[in-house]
Amino acid sequence: MQFSDITGQKEIKDHLIQTVLENRVSHAQLFLGPEGSGSLLLALAYAQFISCQNRQANDSCGECSSCRKYRKLIHPDLHFSYPFFRGGENEDSMPDQPEWRNLVLGNPYFNLDDWRLRLDAQNKQANINKAECMNILNRLTLKPFESEYKTMIVWLPEHLGNEGNRLLKTLEEPADKTLIILVAQNQDQILNTIISRTQLVKIPRLKDEDISKFLVEKKGISEPKAASIAYLSEGNLTAALSFMHGEENDHLKMFQEWLQLSYRDNGNKIVDFTEKVAKLGRENQKNFLRYGINLIRESVLILSAAENLVHLPQAELEFITNFSKVINLAKAEAIVAELEKAHYHIERNANPKILFLDVSLQFIKILKFNTLPSGTQYIYA
Ligand SMILES: [Zn+2]
Repeated sequence: MQFSDITGQKEIKDHLIQTVLENRVSHAQLFLGPEGSGSLLLALAYAQFISCQNRQANDSCGECSSCRKYRKLIHPDLHFSYPFFRGGENEDSMPDQPEWRNLVLGNPYFNLDDWRLRLDAQNKQANINKAECMNILNRLTLKPFESEYKTMIVWLPEHLGNEGNRLLKTLEEPADKTLIILVAQNQDQILNTIISRTQLVKIPRLKDEDISKFLVEKKGISEPKAASIAYLSEGNLTAALSFMHGEENDHLKMFQEWLQLSYRDNGNKIVDFTEKVAKLGRENQKNFLRYGINLIRESVLILSAAENLVHLPQAELEFITNFSKVINLAKAEAIVAELEKAHYHIERNANPKILFLDVSLQFIKILKFNTLPSGTQYIYA
């Protein structure tokens, strides 16, 4: 992975390159960036740059023997750790290494659900257990084989839980010429003791134009379509890619149907609808909910007399303009709140049939009976 392969993030790339050129590479770093920002790729390009035998001014050479091994993720001084799904207390991540490499090489903007799917782990809990911490420590005691540096990239250290305390001493005083990069998404799920021992590299979400450019250049999508997918994905390239693949699900049609059935309080058809959505699979359900959240937020803009900020493809724009005529601001916000709650619960393995049925009931209350769900404090009447 070279910096030039990575979409956007110019400021971060420049910063990382500078630390190497000025010889101030911190031995333990926390790359903190939201899903779909490319933080794992930046960690890889950074390690490859450090290890490159013919380093260029602003990238690795891509051709030396180190770069060639890095490109296939088979460099003997490049180590990975990541959450895995096998439950035995003596199990570590090593048996999953081939699948891990395939996933990173095949779809570098993957998320934990893609990893779960790849390992066919269904609803199992992801974790980095005690045995894996010991495995990390063992691998860090190895002398570098070929490079000056050895690198350990830990993806989603959020899953370390309290086991992370086993790594503190090493994070503080690693062996010489050792680089540990933690690639995380949620700072508040990482032990403070770990955060305080690492150098923080904050990676922002991608810019819409970077996502759009990626979709046009790498995926051959037309510019207007790429622009609207980029907009809906809110800086998350992982989400943009699944919006792209999810096109055949026709989220707009499904979402329209859902609101209409709720408005009419059509019980039987709502049950049919929730059964249909339950079959989509968790990833598509999350996309569908995210799509709905974005769409109704546009309605909030329209109802707040900020139409000029609305930025939607034609079909969505027509629907949401009409929809905004039959609701008010409080209802729109209540719907968004229900969708956000649902998204939260789907991520945590809620039963989709029950969940979508429950959200439908809330929609009926909001749309048909003008009752806002209790527990919410809306300032609009
Ligand atoms: Zn090289």
